Amino acid sequence: MVINVKNVGITGHIRPDGDCVGSCMALYNYIISNYEDICVDVYLEDVGEEFNFITNIDKVKKEPLDKIYDVFVVLDCSDLDRIAPFRKCYDNAKSTVCVDHHISNLNYADKNIVKPDASSCAQVLFGLLDESKINKAVAECIYIGIIHDTGVFKYSSTSKETMEIAGKMMEHGIDFTSIIDNSFYMRTYAQTKILGKAIGNSKLLCDDKIIASYIDFEHMEECGVNNKQLGGVVEQLRLTNCVEVAAFIYQVNIDEYKVSLRSKSIVDVSTIAMKFGGGGHIRAAGFNMKGTKESIFETLVEEIAKQL
Ligand code: AMP
Ligand code: MN
Ligand code: MN
Repeated sequence: MVINVKNVGITGHIRPDGDCVGSCMALYNYIISNYEDICVDVYLEDVGEEFNFITNIDKVKKEPLDKIYDVFVVLDCSDLDRIAPFRKCYDNAKSTVCVDHHISNLNYADKNIVKPDASSCAQVLFGLLDESKINKAVAECIYIGIIHDTGVFKYSSTSKETMEIAGKMMEHGIDFTSIIDNSFYMRTYAQTKILGKAIGNSKLLCDDKIIASYIDFEHMEECGVNNKQLGGVVEQLRLTNCVEVAAFIYQVNIDEYKVSLRSKSIVDVSTIAMKFGGGGHIRAAGFNMKGTKESIFETLVEEIAKQL
């Protein structure tokens, strides 16, 4: 901890996922429970209801304050475009820190602690904290970050260290079964319906090495979901036995889609995402692309085929 720090701001990436929310809230709870002289604000875009149980989640601010932070910390975010609503707080801060694990991270802050081999930002953050100052609330948040970004300890980014950290968090008496069920696996009926729609829309391409699917505005409307509730879809597609890559796209504008890519063992999807202005990890990456579904899938097949 830097000396003379009085004001700290924290944020993560837009459309925050479990690692982003877990990491931001872990740092928030760590500071407020150990450094009473420090004033800390945490900023996040809309956080899903599945995270309502997190200690102090009601303290999250959705609008940037006109404050000059001594330190502004960005977690789980590879580039500054992805902190969009809170950019002003970052730009005005006296110093900035980035804690992350994206291979595509641009090292944009004054100090960057980026570990592409780490399972999650929460794992990187854990390495920066004093273990004796971690309480149950912090432990819960770190555990959430880890389980969300490892798909509950199954992605290849899961290491012995990941499991050891998770074990240490369990020693704080966290209710890990309910955290896993309620924050990771649980879905609304509307999400079950849209998942069925996406699975129904799927096609095998490129000699069955790619499974591709899409969700348009009309499907979201029909099922009563918004695009923030499509989180688990690409992973379900990836589980198809024959495929190497799952490509899921959902509409974000009349002529634009958000692309989510997942691979199993050969294709580096982060390089594809970076080529199109996005980012991520070797086995999980994303970006936005203009065009029709057909033109986007054509481009994706072309890029993926180069690596197969
Ligand atoms: P998603 O497919 O949205 O679940 O994202 C998979 C991974 O890629 C996550 O680690 C994201 O943080 C990252 N990612 C997704 N979209 C973008 C983007 N537009 N720019 C940079 N990174 C992204
Ligand atoms: Mn994330
Ligand atoms: Mn992450």
